[in-house]
Amino acid sequence: MRTRIAPTPSGYLHVGNAFNFLVTAELVRTIGGTLFLRVDDLDQERVRPEYVEDVFRSLAWLGIRVDEGPSGPEDLQRSWSQQLRMERYGRVVEQVRATGHLYPCACSRAQREREGSGVHLCRTGEIGSTPVGTAWRLKVPDPCPVSWSEWDGARQVVELNSAMPDPVMLQRGNGRPAYQVASLVDDMDMGIDHVVRGADLIPSTACQWYLALILKRPAFQAIRFHHHPLVTDGTGRKLSKSAGDTSLRSLREAGRSPDHLRDQAKAYVEAFMRHISG
Ligand SMILES: [Zn+2]
Repeated sequence: MRTRIAPTPSGYLHVGNAFNFLVTAELVRTIGGTLFLRVDDLDQERVRPEYVEDVFRSLAWLGIRVDEGPSGPEDLQRSWSQQLRMERYGRVVEQVRATGHLYPCACSRAQREREGSGVHLCRTGEIGSTPVGTAWRLKVPDPCPVSWSEWDGARQVVELNSAMPDPVMLQRGNGRPAYQVASLVDDMDMGIDHVVRGADLIPSTACQWYLALILKRPAFQAIRFHHHPLVTDGTGRKLSKSAGDTSLRSLREAGRSPDHLRDQAKAYVEAFMRHISG
C-alpha cells in the first residue's frame, strides 16, 4: 500500500491527529508498503514555524518513521512544501474550469448565506471573461449524490450539494487553489492508493471524488478509503487545535509517554484487520 499522513501546521497537533497518524503507520507496518509524510502547508496565512516544528517533534515522540517526505522544517521548505507546487495546482484548476464546472463569484459570505447557493446570482450568470478579484467556485448540481465503497466494503453516500455547497476552488485576492484541489493532485502525483482519514473529512473525500470524476482521474476512485471515528474529548466533543491539554506538545512537555496512544491505535488496527478479513 502507498499511503500518507498529512498534517496541517495551522495549530499544535492533538491526540486526535496522533490517532490518525498511528493508525495509518500501523496499517503500513501490518500490510507492508510505503508511508509518505505530506505537510499540508498550502495556507501560508495560517502556517506558523512553531506548528511546522511541532509536526516533526510529534512524529518523533510518537515513534513514527516515514519512508518518504521531508526530514525537517528546512527540508520541507527546500523540497517538499506545497508552496513549490502552486503552479501545478493552478493548472489543474484550469482543467476544471475548462470543463465548465467553475463560475466566478465575488459575493461576500453574508451575501451567499442570504441568497443560498441554489438561487445564487453569479451561479446562473454567463461565464465569459475572467473578472478580476473574484473567487472561482465549483458548480455542484442539486442534487449531487456522491458514493463510494470504503476499504471495508461499506457504502458511503454523501449529498455533496448540502455537505459542501459550491466550494471555492480558487480564492479571491491571493488566487490560492483550494485544499481540495491540492490534496487530490498530491494524492494522484504520489501514487497514493490508500487514504486513512477521520470521519470529519468525509465531505472532503466526496468533493475530491467529484473533482476526480470531472477531471477523469479514475486512479482516485480506485483509492481505498477508510474514515475512522474521531477521538473525542470525553464529553463527546471533537478535539480542536486549540484544545490545550490534549495537544501533543503539552503531553511531551509533561513528560508523558505516548504508549497508551500507540496501544489504542494498535488495538484499532487489529480489530479493523479482523473486520476486513472476516
Ligand atoms: Zn457570488
